[in-house]
Amino acid sequence: MIREKLVKGFKDGIVVPEGLIAHGRGETFDYLIDEKTIPVAEKAEKVAAAYLLKAKNPVISVNGNTAALVKNDIVELSKIVPAKIEINLFHRTDERIKKIVEMFKGVDVLGGRPDARIPGLEHHRGLCCKSGIFSSDVVLVMLEDGDRAKALVDMKKTVIAVDLNPLSRTAQTASITVVDNVTRALKNIIKNCEILRNNRTEIDETIKNFDNRGNIDEVLKYISKRLG
Ligand code: ATP
Repeated sequence: MIREKLVKGFKDGIVVPEGLIAHGRGETFDYLIDEKTIPVAEKAEKVAAAYLLKAKNPVISVNGNTAALVKNDIVELSKIVPAKIEINLFHRTDERIKKIVEMFKGVDVLGGRPDARIPGLEHHRGLCCKSGIFSSDVVLVMLEDGDRAKALVDMKKTVIAVDLNPLSRTAQTASITVVDNVTRALKNIIKNCEILRNNRTEIDETIKNFDNRGNIDEVLKYISKRLG
């Protein structure tokens, strides 16, 4: 079902061929965690929810694969936090942006008219919106490119990355790394937002007690054990 969604997205001009390759890489890592949310990912998903709820200007960054796979979850999460949605494409064309905006019809999405730049990235890849990613304090990225994740961290943003590969540059650079499939991760983050949203103390405790480096190490231990 997931593959079919991506193939449809590709035929519709939403997903690029590079997105299909990235998905294949993700599937490999999903096998290594048994295609389920492992306890350490669950922990990171709770932390992700806490950061999103505490943020002043949280933004969910959307690309072709995530629009094709989890559009409805993105909208639901943006409402519950509440957070802005910004289309942020690695292979940016006006036509693709337009098609993705159309997919989100009825929902406010940024990205159509970028008016700012993420420093350190070449022209197209650095485009973003002043009121969105540029001024965000917490940004949720999924299947993100390592250079862009690092550029966002360099801008002193809290970067929450959903990435099945715990060794990718994005996973290694992010402030909070969720090693899980976007199809499961977003639902879990939404669930945690529902639980945490009226509990300031638990939000603060959740953030305070989290060690991202330690959490990634736990993921790698889990995978090694499974392989063993
Ligand atoms: P980096 O630049 O961060 O080192 P990369 O070059 O592999 O990594 P991309 O191809 O831009 O990065 O991003 C794809 C990443 O997303 C891969 O790490 C892949 O494992 C992951 N990925 C692919 N599909 C999914 C999915 N459905 N859910 C979560 N992660 C996924």
